[in-house]
Amino acid sequence: MTINNKIVLGITGGIAAYKSAELARLLVKAGAQVKIVMTSNAQKFITALTMQAITGHEVYANLFVSAAAMEHINLARWADIVLVAPASANFMAQLALGSAADLLSSLCLATTAPLVIVPAMNQVMWHHAATQANRQVLQQRAVHILGPELGSQACGDHGLGRMMAPETIIEHLPLLVRQPHQLGPLAGVRIVITAGPTRENLDPVRFLSNHSSGKMGYALAHAAVAAGAKVTLISGPVLSVAAPAAAALISVTTAQEMCDAVLARVNECDIFIGVAAVADYYCPEPAQQKIAKQQSGCQLTLLATPDIIKLVSACRPRPFIVGFAAETHDLLSNAMAKLKNKGMDVIIANQVGADQGINSDDNEVTVLWQKAAIMQSLSLARQPKITLAQQLIQLLASLYNNQEHYSEHSSA
Ligand code: C5P
Repeated sequence: MTINNKIVLGITGGIAAYKSAELARLLVKAGAQVKIVMTSNAQKFITALTMQAITGHEVYANLFVSAAAMEHINLARWADIVLVAPASANFMAQLALGSAADLLSSLCLATTAPLVIVPAMNQVMWHHAATQANRQVLQQRAVHILGPELGSQACGDHGLGRMMAPETIIEHLPLLVRQPHQLGPLAGVRIVITAGPTRENLDPVRFLSNHSSGKMGYALAHAAVAAGAKVTLISGPVLSVAAPAAAALISVTTAQEMCDAVLARVNECDIFIGVAAVADYYCPEPAQQKIAKQQSGCQLTLLATPDIIKLVSACRPRPFIVGFAAETHDLLSNAMAKLKNKGMDVIIANQVGADQGINSDDNEVTVLWQKAAIMQSLSLARQPKITLAQQLIQLLASLYNNQEHYSEHSSA
């Protein structure tokens, strides 16, 4: 991957700061010019000398070094992106407050470049109401937030709070550099995307759901924003994926809630992409009290959830409709049947298994659509969902922009 950008890499105080050296090395290797700004606490974890050796630039740490004392403005203007990794809880709080206490926080206020932060902290600190309130404020201000990831932590805890891996940060950057609504193949196009699983309650403590992580849907939302689209992301419960700051995020839990949220927006939607792994069944009368364990077993009455894509395709006028078919067998024949039965314009078929598709970082798909009643297909090789999403959005944009030339069942 090539990154031809000027990047200010801010490092704040946390044990994850050791990963910033690798991040800087990968950025330089990808072609970026990198200037480092360190807080005083960051320098307790990693030395300025290390960062200077990796980037080939002097490291900035003080607001008032030069006589002109304008370093924060110079760096703010120089940057194409300001990336802060790791971003500590304290730094997020400073940013949310608009504090300009040191060089890094000052330049974040002074820049018009996209601001990307990569939080890393103890999982209890991440879940604290204060940190979550700061996260929300920052998201509303279009700060891009990558991660944190789930896993074991330096303090011995296990949970959400690890800094996103440098390789993954690098994959996200090209999607974030472009400002939303810039000219792109989907400039001004209104897209609704469903993502993640749904949860159907059985009793006050149990639910039916599936392994969907939301990664594919969220990656498509990022790629669509980067292509200029106005994106609404309707998401079931997901853990460690970040929505694009420029997208409208609507969080739902059940299939019915997802369906209501989609149908409420279908009139303001040019393209609908159903990526969510919607539960197929729900319990019409969830128990009011916890169902007790019985050796004889237990019987549940389940009903089918609404088929959201089918309902969207019955609307008139209806958007351009894209669906997914996650299959463990007979991939293409099952996908073709779904394309027809659900009245979609395009279906993206992906084989799911132990290490691929649902809840994994990689995916491999075959895209199917009809042109003059003849089935067309394009297979995209196994790769990270982030890059796959970029390719899919390019393809969908070209099919959408030329739809009168090929689709048998395009918008009525
Ligand atoms: O029938 P199946 O669940 O395999 O269909 C997959 C496609 O249909 C996906 O695009 C999914 O988002 C969508 N779907 C839906 N509503 C459902 C079930 C699936 O929109 N209830």
